Amino acid sequence: MASDNRHAQRIVVGIDGSSSSGHLPPARSSIPCSPRRLAGSRFLGAALAAAVLVAPCTVATAGTASAAVAGEPGAPGQGDPYFPLAGNGGYTVGHYDLGLAYDPATRRMKGDATLSARAVQDLSAFDLDLSGLTVTGVTVGGKEARFERRGQELVITPGRVLRRGAAFEVRVAYSGVPQYVTDPDGSEDGWIATDDGAFVAGEPQGAMSWFPSDNLPLDKASYSFRVTVPAGYTAVCNGELTSQRTRNGMTTFRWEQTQPMASYLATATVGKFEVERYTTASGVPVYNAVDPRESADAAPALAKIPEILDWGTTLFGPYPFSSAGAIVDRAPDAGYALETQSRPLYDRAPNVGTVVHEMAHQWFGDSVSLTNWRDIWLDEGFATYAEWLWQEQHGGTSAQARFDQYYALPATDGIWAFPTADPGEGADIFASPVYDRGAMVLHELRSAVGDARFFNILKTWAREHRYGNGTTAEFVALSERMSHQDLGPLFHTWLFTAGKPARS
Ligand SMILES: [Zn+2]
Repeated sequence: MASDNRHAQRIVVGIDGSSSSGHLPPARSSIPCSPRRLAGSRFLGAALAAAVLVAPCTVATAGTASAAVAGEPGAPGQGDPYFPLAGNGGYTVGHYDLGLAYDPATRRMKGDATLSARAVQDLSAFDLDLSGLTVTGVTVGGKEARFERRGQELVITPGRVLRRGAAFEVRVAYSGVPQYVTDPDGSEDGWIATDDGAFVAGEPQGAMSWFPSDNLPLDKASYSFRVTVPAGYTAVCNGELTSQRTRNGMTTFRWEQTQPMASYLATATVGKFEVERYTTASGVPVYNAVDPRESADAAPALAKIPEILDWGTTLFGPYPFSSAGAIVDRAPDAGYALETQSRPLYDRAPNVGTVVHEMAHQWFGDSVSLTNWRDIWLDEGFATYAEWLWQEQHGGTSAQARFDQYYALPATDGIWAFPTADPGEGADIFASPVYDRGAMVLHELRSAVGDARFFNILKTWAREHRYGNGTTAEFVALSERMSHQDLGPLFHTWLFTAGKPARS
């Protein structure tokens, strides 16, 4: 994510116009945990196979029905330090099939979501994350299931216990006017209506404003999108456009994101867009959708996409996804850009630095994802440092000079407000100590181990955790393994120690 300068309360060292913002006022306190449900127990009277649609799977059969199966409800959250109710326990999702119809005039949505999941415990009930909207029906394995709403939790009780290891499909029908989520830092995310559609950016919580999910980056899945909008509007999602058909004044866009994706990186942005399609010399299909009011200003930065892709591939290893591009909207209420997977989303015409930032996230954040939100510097510190590297290698300020500019900031400056790898609370995950000090951490590492080893570490990190997740501890361990150096003091000081670090 990259914040716009116009929304920043304070700007740190505006070197190329892409600097990060300071703190925004907190909008509310943290979300309280809902009480754990009591475990229910059930007897399996008949085959569970009817509740299971996806093979291969482990199911109880009539022959084993004599054994009682007492499942337990899945947890309502995964214990993330900042967003305790994000994600859910008891299952993982392999694929989302999202059918949406959206009318920009009335802002009404009709949704039909099918999740292909697998139980990781004997499951008597489980939650999906969904905020607002009206749920009109839920089935599990094609059979109606009981459901209730508890805040952002959609609690689903299937007719039979889902056995551990069993694959199952849960289908949710819903409708209403989606409402964006307000995050602890006061920013809006999720489904944000615009004057010609919707800007759909879900970091960190907003996916639940438009589809039911296991809303934590740890549970990545592939996605199919089927979005219907009035003719003349374009719906842009992640991955590849597989069909676009207009009938009776409505156009349906089908998109496929085959590589694993965290829910917050999904988009279904709707607007009146100019579309540009081509394939880069390196063979990556590009799909750009641009609000005509932004297209002249956006053109210079968008023209750099093939070059940035090749540059990233040289520095970080193979581009992780099977397509690329950009969505340039006009969304003044959002005030930021987001690295929506394969196709970053901009709230206005971006500059080159912002495009470099969001495209670097394709390696760091999208392909290698967070395990919990406290480690957000693994996304933002890396993407910010990519901006430094781009500048350094394209005739601009050197990374060392930029480091020195930040380091010259007084000890009272907000950049030193908290340690990079311990933001302390969810309101601070998009603040300067994560972005700018996060980039400084990487520069300190580079200075300590030398260029060859440093860039090898970045490539290895991208390769070893490709399509998966990583933690700060794993990055520290990798850096030490590859450099054969004790980097404990460096990381301890720069990642975990409060205040302005002493010069090493
Ligand atoms: Zn970012």
